[in-house]
Amino acid sequence: MADWNYEIFWKETMNLVRGELSDQEFSMWFKIDYLRATENEIFVMVPHQFYRDQVSNRYKKYIESKLKELTGKDLSIVFEIKHSESSQNVQNLVPVSNKSIFQQSESPENSRNIPNFIKTGVYEEKKKGLHYQLNKDYTFDKYVIGDNNSFPANAALAIARNPGTSYPVFLIYGGVGLGKTHLMQAIGNYIYENSDSKVIYITAENFMNEFIQALKDDKMSAFKNKYRYVDVLLIDDIHFFENKWETQEELFHTFNTLYDAKKQIVFTCDRPVSDLKKITDRLKSRFERGLNVDLQPPNYETRYAILKKKVETKNVTLQDEVIALISKNISSNIRDLEAALTKLIAYGELVGKPVTLEIARQQLKDVFASPKQSNMSIEIIQRVVAEENKLSLTDLKGPKRTKKIVFPRQLAMYIAREITEYSTTDIGDYFGGRDHTTVMHSCKAIEERLQADPRLDSIIENLKRLIKEYNAKS
Ligand code: ADP
Ligand code: MG
Repeated sequence: MADWNYEIFWKETMNLVRGELSDQEFSMWFKIDYLRATENEIFVMVPHQFYRDQVSNRYKKYIESKLKELTGKDLSIVFEIKHSESSQNVQNLVPVSNKSIFQQSESPENSRNIPNFIKTGVYEEKKKGLHYQLNKDYTFDKYVIGDNNSFPANAALAIARNPGTSYPVFLIYGGVGLGKTHLMQAIGNYIYENSDSKVIYITAENFMNEFIQALKDDKMSAFKNKYRYVDVLLIDDIHFFENKWETQEELFHTFNTLYDAKKQIVFTCDRPVSDLKKITDRLKSRFERGLNVDLQPPNYETRYAILKKKVETKNVTLQDEVIALISKNISSNIRDLEAALTKLIAYGELVGKPVTLEIARQQLKDVFASPKQSNMSIEIIQRVVAEENKLSLTDLKGPKRTKKIVFPRQLAMYIAREITEYSTTDIGDYFGGRDHTTVMHSCKAIEERLQADPRLDSIIENLKRLIKEYNAKS
């Protein structure tokens, strides 16, 4: 990602700050214009040196902490001083609001992106029906923000409020059941509800099927019209396009048309674009052109918060201990969490009794025992790393110290340390009884290489993904 554009986040930050300070304080000290950004810095402009010193002393940390809330990143602000005297050109400020951006999304009348005809109420009776392709439950207010998704979720909301502007191309990637489709459709639902933009949601698979059907029926121009004249195109699970060359070609042209017309395009994918195979380079470069964000599996607190929210929206009662039990034992993804919850609710309704901890344990014992939920085994890590490096397992674990073996061995130890709960002593045992200091040394060696060679990061991510796939199958 070459260009970093945090302008939307900057504006939202100003919006939050404005809500927290008095009008006077805000108008006095926030004559700050967004200029540009790098990955970790945002450059802004202030009127003069004195102003810069004051603002920097008083508010820099505060603004940075707000930015962090929104982006999940440590961004630092660099103040520059305006040279020309046209100081009228202050920030293009948004309406006063003291709500967070997510609260605002629940009360759309506060949003500055609502077209006027909706605000005026002229069309009030004509409340929009549901979008024919979108799930009505996949909205921002039903999306729990946690450790794993604050950046993707806030970016998605920013995009929903300003489609086709700062991030005309947005790609969300991550494993199954982590919330990609929900987030993508939340963007669609939001835009559909708050504007008259034309929104299309389609899975990659259906996009291909429609394309093939159009070819057969000689209806290509209708197909092209449908996809090239939308305001927001959401295509889910683009890894499906691997090896589908004609569909890729068509998508490439669709992309270019929409991109040139400054429309909004959103994709999801089950892995980073760089790991896609059998996709043309030119299409890959289009995917990578925009903001690419990843969803990680949620931690315990987030899993608990998600379940708690699901229980509330389903309007059922379930003891907190039971929610805690599920959150603790199911860590794979949110879809599995939901499935466990649904099972317990169904059981409770069937027998007409509250679900106790005992019943929950009993009912979910098979789910909890499934290998997918239990700790990742070191053997699987070893097998995948050995296979990917064309080594035998015996060599990977054994005593040989040739370069060709030592590096993959260090990698395997490093990954074991990262994705399992095993101690360095345990890991050493699995690698032919090596000492725990050897394991620590290996991890350190990989960390150092990671610093020196950023490409290693994607090699490791790829291995982790393969390991998880293998683990899910076994
Ligand atoms: P993916 O597309 O990544 O496979 P989905 O978007 O289908 O995953 O999510 C699986 C289920 O988990 C859906 O029912 C979705 O509503 C739910 N879900 C995922 N993430 C969250 C979240 N952060 N808060 C609430 N529900 C979530
Ligand atoms: Mg999905």
